[in-house]
Amino acid sequence: HLWRERLPRHHHRWPNPRRGRMSSIPATIREDFPTLTQEINGHPLVYFDNAATTQKPRPVLEAIQRYYEHDNANVHRGIHELSNRATAAYEGARHRVAQFINAPSAKDIIFTRGTTEALNLVAATWGAGNLREGDVILLTEMEHHSNLVPWQLLAQRTGAQLRFIPVTGDFGELDLSDLDERLSDVKLLSLTHISNALGTINPVTELCAKAKAVGAVTLVDAAQSAGHLPLDVQALGCDFLAFSGHKLCGPTGIGALFARAELQAAMPPYQGGGEMISTVGFQTSEYHEPPHKFEAGTPNIAGAVGLHAAMDYLDALGSEAIHAHDTDIAAYAKERLAEFDGIRIFGPAGERGGLVSFVFEKVHALDLATMADQQGVAIRIGHHCTQPLHEKLGVPATARASFYFYNTRAEVDRFIEVLQKVIQLLK
Ligand code: PLP
Repeated sequence: HLWRERLPRHHHRWPNPRRGRMSSIPATIREDFPTLTQEINGHPLVYFDNAATTQKPRPVLEAIQRYYEHDNANVHRGIHELSNRATAAYEGARHRVAQFINAPSAKDIIFTRGTTEALNLVAATWGAGNLREGDVILLTEMEHHSNLVPWQLLAQRTGAQLRFIPVTGDFGELDLSDLDERLSDVKLLSLTHISNALGTINPVTELCAKAKAVGAVTLVDAAQSAGHLPLDVQALGCDFLAFSGHKLCGPTGIGALFARAELQAAMPPYQGGGEMISTVGFQTSEYHEPPHKFEAGTPNIAGAVGLHAAMDYLDALGSEAIHAHDTDIAAYAKERLAEFDGIRIFGPAGERGGLVSFVFEKVHALDLATMADQQGVAIRIGHHCTQPLHEKLGVPATARASFYFYNTRAEVDRFIEVLQKVIQLLK
């Protein structure tokens, strides 16, 4: 890859005036992202909606184009050259995902459309096969709807109950004071690694260990952590982990579920169709070995190729460096936002993932985001698919600025300037 050769040459450290920390992400990194160089409404784009989806670097775009131009065919089917290449690319991507999250084997990786489908897959297969009336599914109050609604549906079907680890009174973290009681009769603990609404980084290793000690199965929603911090499923000690490719520089429509091999072996199929069967009769069928048993139909081959390229790209930067940059930008944004009167900033007091949510007492979030967009600043407003959490926060909507390694402190400064202007106008 050209960009790889370019990296050391352009690589330079830039000073971080406020906290004296240095970012090891080269400032030239933005040149790899075609979307970032455009103007919106006559202003340079400031893209602060990375928790919703990230921008894509050239190596990812090129890998997808190269695949369609040279190797396109269906997988696992033909004996011809192109089908062999497509199969190798698809299965190679599975190995790459396993390596990226330190899974013991590529067989532990099931490709899905993203986090949402991965979570639904666990609910529909492991959940339906293992949960009975009265069993407890333990979630947290800061879950994204995609780690809540599938369990509600499952609970309605099986009679299982939902229980929640609450957020603390200041809405910064999980309240773990009554954890031991909350863990009684729990069959599944499913929780988010980083909250997409608060930025909280949850102590998932500790929580998985505690859940395991009472015999519960554990699932980590890594939608906001994969590609943002070092992720190691063996160190986390979880049974399942779900993430989306599009939130880590990969394309939309591809994601993965890590599922421990022993659990996969006992799980019924997810969907029926081609690719997942070994023999089919008119009345019954036999299924392929996992993980193929869970991947019915033609998969998103080009998506897997793009995801592979995204993981190569991120690993060349280093997950520690990305995490340090993310948290630094978030801390700086929080510090600058705190300069405003009448602002309420949500999330933990200490370290947070790369996002800040806030509301102004006297300014409607929709007006804020609309006027920021007129100045080229892209932020998100709403409940961020965490409606029950927002009910607890006592606000129907928050504004959220979310960052990635290509964002800069200079962009935060511009964002603050735009907010100052908007607030002045709306007053
Ligand atoms: N979980 C969390 C914490 C998220 O932030 C998101 C997306 O915003 C999801 C799950 C769902 O991801 P996707 O829409 O890619 O399936």
